[in-house]
Amino acid sequence: MIPFNKPYLTGKEAHYMYQAVNTGKLSGNGDFTKKCQKFFEDKYGYKKALLTTSCTDALEMCAILSNVQPGDEVIVPSYTFVSSALAFVRQGAKIVFADSMASNPNIDAEKLEALITPRTKVIVPVHYAGVACDMDRIMAIANKYNILVVEDAAQAIDSYYKGRPLGSIGHLAAFSFHETKNIISGEGGLLAINDERFIRRSEILWEKGTNRSEFFRGEVNKYGWVDTGSSFLPSEIIAAFLWAQLENLDIIQKRRKEIWNMYNDGFKELDVKGIVRLPEIPIYATNNAHMFYIICRSLQERTELIKYLKVNGVLAVFHYLSLHLSDYYKKNNIDIPYLPQCDNYADTLVRLPMYFELQNTEVIKIVNLINNFFDGK
Ligand SMILES: *Cc1c(COP(=O)(O)O)cnc(C)c1O
Repeated sequence: MIPFNKPYLTGKEAHYMYQAVNTGKLSGNGDFTKKCQKFFEDKYGYKKALLTTSCTDALEMCAILSNVQPGDEVIVPSYTFVSSALAFVRQGAKIVFADSMASNPNIDAEKLEALITPRTKVIVPVHYAGVACDMDRIMAIANKYNILVVEDAAQAIDSYYKGRPLGSIGHLAAFSFHETKNIISGEGGLLAINDERFIRRSEILWEKGTNRSEFFRGEVNKYGWVDTGSSFLPSEIIAAFLWAQLENLDIIQKRRKEIWNMYNDGFKELDVKGIVRLPEIPIYATNNAHMFYIICRSLQERTELIKYLKVNGVLAVFHYLSLHLSDYYKKNNIDIPYLPQCDNYADTLVRLPMYFELQNTEVIKIVNLINNFFDGK
């Protein structure tokens, strides 16, 4: 069976974890944490980077930093992972779901302005598959109405919008190092802060509502409870694991892009014939090869394709279920929007195996299987 995902280990993870253990400093914000954070700040230009225990946690920090109050509105695409909305719901926000574009699953910036009300506090663009949303448009609208932008960049490591790193454009951004992402630490995440106003408070939220970070830097002579917060920071053992991955970022990205291109070339003909649709990368965006997906013509065809692949030893999966149609949202909201593009992706998009160690022979097998499946259809 060709699995859908296989976490890649560079070989150095256990070594660095052992090193972390040997220094006797196992809690968070030690040398490996600082090395990882500096890596992100230097390479991508975030004003401040803080490792978190997950992207969901980083998004929760964003929700607290945004000072969202009960009844405030947050605009989130419906075609995304639960956390993009959940982090703000926990602060009492009302989620206003936005539709995707027809050309790709990202939030439709053209339709954004119509969703804004005096209570809108935050827009959460999700860079689906690591492909940038139209950030100039989104930032222009946000600035016009004095709204914060939190990039859900969970899938978007090392990807760019008009040459600018994703996660560096919104006021705040959140990344994931979950084992299904390009760079992993099992569970893990990153908060990127681009608006300096949030730096001091983010460190306090991160360290259980205390100003311990300032104390360790020698900026204050005692530390204590100064704000809300949680234990958002990971241990040094996790940071050590992540460091091994970051050292290999370029190698990982290069191989993933090779696989992505093999898939894309393999389905060109099906795309030209209108049998499937291939991912569309807008001119302003790069491709970080986080995932490879194809879009089928119907739910029924997708179901048959996934079944056919499974019978032939390949695990392909679909996602997401539209959040505006979820049990949780329907239970708590009466006005359910109509978001046809989102529903269409939920019905027809299928993700193919995509991981560093996927062999060329396996990619060819999958390409051939899918071409065979559609033969004569
Ligand atoms: C993976 C993912 C998340 C959640 O990341 P965790 O690190 O598992 O919390 C959030 N949003 C999107 C778009 C994701 O793909």
